[in-house]
Amino acid sequence: MSPAIAGAHGFRVNNAGHLEIGGVDALALARDFGTPLHVLDEERLRANCREYRDTLAEAYGPNARAIFASKACCTIATCQIAHQEGLGVDVASGGELHTALRAGVPARDLYFHGNNKTLDEVEYGLRTGVGRCVVDNEHEFDLLETVTARLDTTADILLRLTPGIEPHTHQAIRTGGVDSKFGFGMLDGAAYRAVVRASRMPRVRLRGLHAHIGSQVCDLEPFRMSAAALVDFAARIRDELDVTVEELNLGGGLGIRYVPADEPPRIADFVRALAGVVTARLGAHRLSHPRLFLEPGRSIVGSAGVTLYTVGAVKSIPGVRTYVSVDGGMFENPRPALYGAQYEAVAAARAADAATDTVAVAGRCCESGDVLIWEARLPPVRSGDLLAVFGTGAYTYSMASNYNRFPRPAVVLAGHGRGRCVVERETYDDLLRKDVSL
Ligand SMILES: *Cc1c(COP(=O)(O)O)cnc(C)c1O
Repeated sequence: MSPAIAGAHGFRVNNAGHLEIGGVDALALARDFGTPLHVLDEERLRANCREYRDTLAEAYGPNARAIFASKACCTIATCQIAHQEGLGVDVASGGELHTALRAGVPARDLYFHGNNKTLDEVEYGLRTGVGRCVVDNEHEFDLLETVTARLDTTADILLRLTPGIEPHTHQAIRTGGVDSKFGFGMLDGAAYRAVVRASRMPRVRLRGLHAHIGSQVCDLEPFRMSAAALVDFAARIRDELDVTVEELNLGGGLGIRYVPADEPPRIADFVRALAGVVTARLGAHRLSHPRLFLEPGRSIVGSAGVTLYTVGAVKSIPGVRTYVSVDGGMFENPRPALYGAQYEAVAAARAADAATDTVAVAGRCCESGDVLIWEARLPPVRSGDLLAVFGTGAYTYSMASNYNRFPRPAVVLAGHGRGRCVVERETYDDLLRKDVSL
């Protein structure tokens, strides 16, 4: 049921039976921009931003904001769109910071994360005036002491806390458990000691608390538990240390639907659930309402993305498997090879045809594990056909590499019936730009 596949991902099939993205025929996008091609549906991207923005305002009031976790897809255009829609931007490296600044996002709207920021990165952030540094560990306090003194400035910080909560998601993308490289542990006293240290640092202003428990989480309960733990901690440090938490940042992590087995809550339900827990818990502790932040990445950009591929070699091994090789692979989407991520696909020119075959959609890297979809349900496909893989907006382009010296694909924004290139396809010469000949 291919039309159902496109429809379930929120995309139309036109009268010719072709997949449409942002009102543009997928075949036209492939013809105009080449393949492999990362396409972002602009309206979907904006609608996801607005759903966060509007539901937060409705459920918590004006004292709340969504922040786009740019690492999901960090380009100038995606940072600009998020900011145009009223979101802040979260950056986790000097390169992401640089991208967001070049995108024209004011530094005060940037939130600087990272579990091992370098001295140069901290300095870049403070010199440009990032809104908040999210301090991850004691080492970062040392860096802040050095840099604030050198620049004769102050830093507004949040503390990243690790609440000891294990959501049901892949181990590689869990971040909130006790055994995590991220953040100050709440269960072992590290978080409390960090509050004490921050409140004694003359050049640091402790604004609030942050936690991010993991990614592709489809269950609301761990989010509720984490939010409740942060508010309880805020009450404790008020009572014991007379510290006021002005800001509460609950992180991101909401999952999206890659395959039918994924059943994530809607963005609006996720936001309401968290705003509800926070409000109730604040009331119980008689705490005044801090500013509330959420930091979604995947759920902003993931479902807006479709990757288009051209089929090359088709190899049938009787009684075993058919490999349909495409012109992309782990160099432009490492998620399947990295942690067994699953996707659905359609044949873009026959997006309404029944899926009769089960095939493996393989990439072209020199790794047997470079298979994008092990069991794709497709109509019969041949060399030259165009395949469309859904849900590829997040952690694909941003994780891409030049393995095998494949140039990274272009990124195109599709909306209002036209496609606009926002990241150009790399050329062979781009690949050699930093090589130095003997
Ligand atoms: C990655 C990350 C996010 C976004 O996670 P998603 O799963 O993409 O929503 C938010 N906050 C922090 C600190 C992160 O590291």
